[in-house]
Amino acid sequence: MLLELTEILRCPRDHEESFVVCVAHRSEGRHVLAGVVGCPVCLAEFPIREGELDLTERTDAPTHRRPELDGAAAGALTADALATFLDLRGPGGYVVLAGGAGRLAPALTALLPDVHHVVVNAPRDAARSPDCSYVSCPDRIPVKAAQVRAVVLGAGCTGGPWPAEAARVLLRGLRVVIEDERASPDGISELARGAGVFVGEKA
Ligand SMILES: [Zn+2]
Repeated sequence: MLLELTEILRCPRDHEESFVVCVAHRSEGRHVLAGVVGCPVCLAEFPIREGELDLTERTDAPTHRRPELDGAAAGALTADALATFLDLRGPGGYVVLAGGAGRLAPALTALLPDVHHVVVNAPRDAARSPDCSYVSCPDRIPVKAAQVRAVVLGAGCTGGPWPAEAARVLLRGLRVVIEDERASPDGISELARGAGVFVGEKA
């Protein structure tokens, strides 16, 4: 997990938005390989292990709970198509890839090396990129409101709370891509739909 990602993260629990604190136990460059992310509001602490932030459990609870995303198939999207749909202009900032879209993280990072990719709930068997940040979180994008330049919702994260979460964390005027052409998220204006994909922008 990129240390600077801490600046946009929020606690996954249901309480007011607040900053979190990251304590790195082991790092490589700007990436934290082992450490703890703590919330000053509810005092929860979450582990970073092997570079991945796990918001599905507390450091003091041994049970391991995580969304059932294993085996999520590759979707309709390719990294090339996604780079076109996202229409990012200029470097910097963050792109969130959730669920099955995490499979595209290595290829998308090669195409868009100047933005940082935050991969939420990647399928366990998906190839990992050392340049991305990996996060597991049961039912939300653990980022403060209006922080990211694009959100891609793939298999396992196209319904339920995820479209509203995408709208919440997006910056105004920027885009969400959902691997479900029937999607119609609140707060998002439709730009295109078809071939299994919805593309919209935050109103
Ligand atoms: Zn908290």
